[in-house]
Amino acid sequence: MAELKLIDPYNRHLNYLRISITDRCNLKCIYCVPRDLIPRLSHDDILTYEEILRLVRIGIKLGISKIRVTGGEPLVRKGVYSFLSDLSRLDGLADISLTTNGVSLKANLRRIKTAGIKRINISLDTLNRTKFERITGFNLFDQVWQGIEMAMEMGFHPIKLNIVALNGINDDELADMARLSFDYPLHIRFIEYMPIGESQIGNGPLLLAPEIKKRISVLGSLIPVTNTIDDGPAQRYHFEGAAGEIGFIHALSHHFCDRCNRLRLTARGRLRPCLLSDHHEDVKEVMRTGGTDEELMEVFFKAVRHKPSDHNLAIQNPSRVCGQMSSIGG
Ligand code: SAM
Repeated sequence: MAELKLIDPYNRHLNYLRISITDRCNLKCIYCVPRDLIPRLSHDDILTYEEILRLVRIGIKLGISKIRVTGGEPLVRKGVYSFLSDLSRLDGLADISLTTNGVSLKANLRRIKTAGIKRINISLDTLNRTKFERITGFNLFDQVWQGIEMAMEMGFHPIKLNIVALNGINDDELADMARLSFDYPLHIRFIEYMPIGESQIGNGPLLLAPEIKKRISVLGSLIPVTNTIDDGPAQRYHFEGAAGEIGFIHALSHHFCDRCNRLRLTARGRLRPCLLSDHHEDVKEVMRTGGTDEELMEVFFKAVRHKPSDHNLAIQNPSRVCGQMSSIGG
């Protein structure tokens, strides 16, 4: 079986598959979607749960051991809880996690837990109700925050809060968000805005990790936390005496491509070897024209062969990636 591993031309071992199960979302975050409606994929365009599970089983044979379910908003897709249970029952996965905007978390945490999910990432870009509405288009801050509190009470761990740092929008709140890590066992993760698809963010200066670090340093020194092999690209820190952690996803200011172990399966059934490059392999087409497991494995290998050594987005004048984040899966 030694040759059945997803090892790319740069000797990176890909064992992490992020799956966007839907391109639909119940929020309209300004950094994620354009102002005008984008056409949604039809039911037939997106992979069925059975198709996704088949691909995951194949992925496991190829060394995939870690899965993140994302979207769009994964919790808006019908049948998601049974799907998560089916995923949890597969042999060979060491870790299954979920990324959500938290809107329907409170009502569904029990089902998520019963389905076997222990780790969740929740997007929360502000602690201010008015700004929450401005960023997401909906007045749902309290609902999301209650979901986060309940997730902590129910013992989900770690709970990571994803914050996309945006100049002129939440840049005045970075220290307040970081301060949450003193009182709660939350992992606060600052994400640099990435120019993916169409969004409502202009071409102004980006708010990058060095500046974010500077702004939150009013709270104390950031003490590095040793990364484990499963940590992925986040640079981890904590403040002295804090219950939680601080992390930085600095895709632009500090490429972490040399450590990238990810493949993405998009809602429309494409395997993407890199979030920030538009190359993809159409695995759905192969599957729906009667492809065997061996042929589908070959699609995985093909995607892996095309994984670029590095994304080439520059801080100054970054080019845009064409696909929408909601379809690719963040
Ligand atoms: N709906 C879920 C959510 O809101 O967490 C999952 C999908 S969302 C696309 C996944 C993550 O991508 C979120 O944490 C979001 O903040 C992040 N994201 C979306 N667009 C982004 C962008 N242009 N740059 C950086 N992060 C982005």
